[in-house]
Amino acid sequence: MRVEGMETVRRILCVFPRYTSSFGTFEYSYPLTDGVRAFMPPQGLLLIAAYLPANWPVRFVDENLRVATKEDFEWADAVFVSGMHIQRQQMNDICRRAHAFDLAVAIGGPSVSACPDYYPSFDYLHVGELGDATDDLIARLARDPSRPPQQVVLKTNDRVAMTDFPIPAYELAEVKRYFLSSIQYSSGCPYQCEFCDIPGLYGRNPRLKSPQQIIAELDRLRECGATDTVYFVDDNFIGNRKAAVDLLPHLIEWQKRTGYVIRLACEATLNIAKRPEILEKMREAFFVTIFCGIETPDPEALKAMHKDHNMMVPILEGVRTINSYGMEVVSGIIMGLDTDKPETGEALLAFIEESKIPLLTINLLQALPKTPLWDRLERENRLVHDEGRDSNVDFLLPYDQVLASWRKCMEIAYQPERLYARFQYQCDFTYANKLKLPASAQQASWANIKRGLIMLRKIFWKVGILGDYRKVFWKFALGRLRRGDLEGLIGPALIAHHLIMFARAASVGQQNASNYSLRLREASVPAE
Ligand code: SF4
Repeated sequence: MRVEGMETVRRILCVFPRYTSSFGTFEYSYPLTDGVRAFMPPQGLLLIAAYLPANWPVRFVDENLRVATKEDFEWADAVFVSGMHIQRQQMNDICRRAHAFDLAVAIGGPSVSACPDYYPSFDYLHVGELGDATDDLIARLARDPSRPPQQVVLKTNDRVAMTDFPIPAYELAEVKRYFLSSIQYSSGCPYQCEFCDIPGLYGRNPRLKSPQQIIAELDRLRECGATDTVYFVDDNFIGNRKAAVDLLPHLIEWQKRTGYVIRLACEATLNIAKRPEILEKMREAFFVTIFCGIETPDPEALKAMHKDHNMMVPILEGVRTINSYGMEVVSGIIMGLDTDKPETGEALLAFIEESKIPLLTINLLQALPKTPLWDRLERENRLVHDEGRDSNVDFLLPYDQVLASWRKCMEIAYQPERLYARFQYQCDFTYANKLKLPASAQQASWANIKRGLIMLRKIFWKVGILGDYRKVFWKFALGRLRRGDLEGLIGPALIAHHLIMFARAASVGQQNASNYSLRLREASVPAE
């Protein structure tokens, strides 16, 4: 619940740090859109913004859209920052800039919760989720907004129930300028994959909002201008299967009421393929993409990382089943596992060909603090603290061999011919199974049509005329145009452009081989 009854007024500046270019943030697609400039609005910071006392003015700055200015800092009484490990340097940089204005700076979110010692300069560390630490922070700032003489660490012991969460302050974000909108229904995951920090940070018993909260949030997102895809950022949408089953009828009703202008996406374990009753309802609710952490097609490796649940159905069969409900699978893949062999790269490429998954985020293994993997590698003395490397893991295979194999896989998997062939398959065998949408005034709105036309014009110009893979593009595009399938043209063209351009840079060492790597991140700091 929002804190009420604060008599003092404090102006809070919430600053979200920049990301560096990454495979999963689609920067190369932005120039083909109608003004998208950043990936997703940050749930955590917008939630805190909504939780602050109603009479406290809040200003939100996402430095992926614009830099926090002198005027912002002069306006504020205190600064809040949140982010993930990959934004660590940028968060410390925001702190440095705020301190130049003698402002108290508080940091919360997943990175500081796992590694408080990464942030020695901040005045307040908010460790854990929304809860008593948040109330304490607000009370301290209400009493005295100046910088405390030494760092204060506030830990949440008593979490706010998710059913009491306010709607994140989406109205503070420029929702239209994001590639995706985000929403959260649950937190936590019942599994314990060795490399994952989610169960350690958020627990194994998923906590939930109510379906009514989600519907209210979707309505708010629409009011704020969300028009395309809303991504459920839940760690595992079926972490609590009953909860997913409870929510889906509400989503279906909402889609009917609002004319199916929003596509839905989520993350879920691959064993969702064993639940046709859930998949059918997801199809009706217009889910079009599921991110599955397949990680590796090697059963021995899945067993070693404690991801046996990926083997509840044969992986390829699971992917086909999900496709048959009109949903594309996006997959996470990890290279550099202890079970990897010299031929792992070849096997991965064969899997990609066979699965026909267009988009796979292929990363080198990185040990995150607070994971069983970190603890094991620490015991084995195999953690490498060298920020010039693409991974902090001392692989069993030589590092250079693993890195070369990753670069080769990126180069081959995202060759335009291969990628567009996989998208062609999706058009024929996945998108064809999507829900046939009833005509709605919302979809046929002038704003929607204008958006599509802008994107088409940019795609035709930048890819179809100026692009060096234009022949492959036109072969695909003409097929879509003949069928009058503009949506099936725009979506793949946007994504493919990012993947092709990013993979080219990656294969020559100009992009990091891990989303978590600090190598090459220097370039993006500071944000000024
Ligand atoms: S299933 Fe996904 S969220 Fe759950 S522990 Fe494994 S990797 Fe983490």
